[in-house]
Amino acid sequence: MMAGGHPRREAAIALLADLVSFHSISLQPNDDIVSHIESCLAALGVETWRDAHEDGARFNLLARIGPAAPGGVLLSGHLDVVPAAAEGWGGDPFTLRRETGRLIGRGAVDMKGFLAMVLAMAPAFQERAEQLAEPLYLAFTFDEEIGSFGAERMPAFLAANGVTPRLAIVGEPTGMNPFNGHKGMIELVTHIRGVAGHASRPAGGVNAIYAAARLIAFIEDLAAECATSPQADSPFDPPFSTLSVGTVTGGEARNIIAGECRIDWEIRALPGQDPHQLYNRVMAFIDSDLLPAMKAGDPACEIATQMLSDVPPLVAQTPSAAAELVGRLWTNEAPQVVSFGTDGPYFQQAGMDVIVIGPGGMAQMHQPEEFITEAAIDEGLTFLDRLLAEMTGGTMQEVSG
Ligand SMILES: [Zn+2]
Repeated sequence: MMAGGHPRREAAIALLADLVSFHSISLQPNDDIVSHIESCLAALGVETWRDAHEDGARFNLLARIGPAAPGGVLLSGHLDVVPAAAEGWGGDPFTLRRETGRLIGRGAVDMKGFLAMVLAMAPAFQERAEQLAEPLYLAFTFDEEIGSFGAERMPAFLAANGVTPRLAIVGEPTGMNPFNGHKGMIELVTHIRGVAGHASRPAGGVNAIYAAARLIAFIEDLAAECATSPQADSPFDPPFSTLSVGTVTGGEARNIIAGECRIDWEIRALPGQDPHQLYNRVMAFIDSDLLPAMKAGDPACEIATQMLSDVPPLVAQTPSAAAELVGRLWTNEAPQVVSFGTDGPYFQQAGMDVIVIGPGGMAQMHQPEEFITEAAIDEGLTFLDRLLAEMTGGTMQEVSG
């Protein structure tokens, strides 16, 4: 990297400090950070569109630089961050700190760092807007961390605006290594209601913890069954779909038959496998076996399952215009796959070829003292420089076939 860093490094760091100062935790209203980005872009003369969630409090933001033409490249990042507990931080998580080459703050790497680089480069793209062979779109989404609820709205929102980018770069922190596939994920919570009673008189009660134990054992068996049929040649580790129970809460006291129990669980399915099929098997067990057995004890028993999120898999494409673009701009390393979710599948649903690549380390995500290095900021800015050169040089190549 060049001595003294990228010429736009300080601009990007100043923008990052602004972005980190907004407490844009998932599910919280995000009008303040969206307004801030709108005004940054409006000052450059860049057009933006908002997409409001039904609650009127959370927004996606879309911007276009260059011609209102079909095709184009979309750069995407999420506005939301995971919460920051006070412990483990050397300062306020929402005040960016700069220490020995690191920028520390909640969202610094995941993924306000990428957003800051994009905003720092926006003036350069806007200055050369007339030379852009096709439009550059910037997409800012809400609630990625809890199930891509913002990105889920993107296919309809883009279609309603006649926006049809042909490829998307999702700038999640991957250490600038390209990824083009991930598993789908369903996050679930199941509430079991039995009948409480005194432990000394079991005949009166229906123990919700016993029912939860049977349900957990069923999920465990199903997970074991998935593990016995790995997909041949799958790039995923492990090469099979997984189910897992993460938490169990229930009961009041040792001498009381548990009236309530709750389990939090998840299903991660390989691309090409339907996670709903696994989900349906668990529901069938509840409906035909577990719940009837409870109701035989007392008809008031209930089991209710909520699907908190349902993120589809990102399916690796070949050939991939997005992977070829990254090959020309940055690295010829073949794209890899990961087992965590991104907004990418929804851009794929909208017809885009999707690649996940961005600056900063995955190991720093969701941690106390989350940071991005100045060197990573330079890398991201250099990547965007090269993208600008590519998009204004008339060398953007279509993938044949
Ligand atoms: Zn992220």
